[in-house]
Amino acid sequence: IKLKIVDIPVPITVGPAFEGETIRKKEAWVEFGGGRSPGFELVRMADADHVEDGKIEVVGPEIDEMPEGSVFPLGIIVDIYGRKMQEDFEGVLERRIHYFINYGEGLWHVAQRDLCWLRISKGAKEAGFKIRHFGELLIAKFKSDYPAIVDRVQVTLITDAQVIDEKIKIAREKYQARDARLKGLTDESVDTFYSCTLCQSFAPNHVCIVSPERVGLCGAVSWLDAKASNEITPTGPNQPITKGECLDEAKGMWKNLNDFLYTSSNRTLEEVNLYTLMDKPMTSCGCFEAIMAVLPLTNGVMITTREHSGDTPCGMSFSTLAGTCGGGVQTPGFMGIGRRYVVSSKFIPADGGLGRIVWMPKELKEYLKDELAERAVQLGLGADFVDKIADETVGITEEEILPFLEERQHPALKMDPLM
Ligand code: SF4
Ligand code: ZN
Repeated sequence: IKLKIVDIPVPITVGPAFEGETIRKKEAWVEFGGGRSPGFELVRMADADHVEDGKIEVVGPEIDEMPEGSVFPLGIIVDIYGRKMQEDFEGVLERRIHYFINYGEGLWHVAQRDLCWLRISKGAKEAGFKIRHFGELLIAKFKSDYPAIVDRVQVTLITDAQVIDEKIKIAREKYQARDARLKGLTDESVDTFYSCTLCQSFAPNHVCIVSPERVGLCGAVSWLDAKASNEITPTGPNQPITKGECLDEAKGMWKNLNDFLYTSSNRTLEEVNLYTLMDKPMTSCGCFEAIMAVLPLTNGVMITTREHSGDTPCGMSFSTLAGTCGGGVQTPGFMGIGRRYVVSSKFIPADGGLGRIVWMPKELKEYLKDELAERAVQLGLGADFVDKIADETVGITEEEILPFLEERQHPALKMDPLM
């Protein structure tokens, strides 16, 4: 392994060793985003004359003006100019912010886009870490990790409550535009899917297959991201796979995908189906945003999320489930997924699709609300289908939720037996 030592002008240690470091609320000097205050991060491609290389601007208070234990807004805008830079690369580079910040000792970052949530520890504050150092860290890492596409970088950090409201709109327009580009793409309209083997560092046989209608299970790698990432690093973790001969249209099995899987899973897996969780489903590593599990008594499936710590009708909480089906093995009846996959038109079509869902946490219902209703109408399940899905307020065992499903005439009860 070649270790790149980059000299980053920040008063804390920076390296992958700190990636897994958690900073609890009581250890934090200040926190940003995470639903407690507005927060966002955005990577933008810019013209040469709009990027002053190395420039860092803090709009609003610096850390010295932030009292211990306070919550502030934070907007991170990274403007990049590069002769080989493309708009399609923005999302991929933006995702790197998560890793780069977590490399800093005493810095903590979760989620992405306008959901991002950050903490600076008391220790980092004492060591002299300033808001502007986020800029130093990001500039150094973007330039050292992506020299082929990044020529100049400038960073704007917004901690002012008024200014962030106006800038977050720009970011949201960008996110929407990216999602809209993906929306027009279907699995049928492309002849190439992408692999993602980034997680093999801890789940050595795990292979994600990313298609236009199925985001990677971490929720952070879309088909467009995988494609862009492959252009940036052709020998990297995202390889194009021409679908080739289709072996099972309903379950979503292709010969070339199987061949790729066999080689990349170190010959532990021979076949994979993209459109079912019952038969040779995709493997799960450990960073799934959500997990689905079969509930035999209800003839349906449930979904729980990383954010939901409570028990669920399959008898396991998220963390217990994660231990059961993670690690890169196929576990029929269980599968890790990205949150947005739930509203995809390729959501387990071979198992009956959206109509199979009988339970999910209230928070996920709320998160996907409009799209769930839209998809339900498209599928002829009716706009009130969402109200037929049980949640933790209805019950946390199969026996508790079954009467609710019967009373509301949940469609899963009338579907073909799942098992
Ligand atoms: Fe890639 Fe899948 Fe890991 Fe996401 S979960 S980084 S898509 S291998
Ligand atoms: Zn993973």
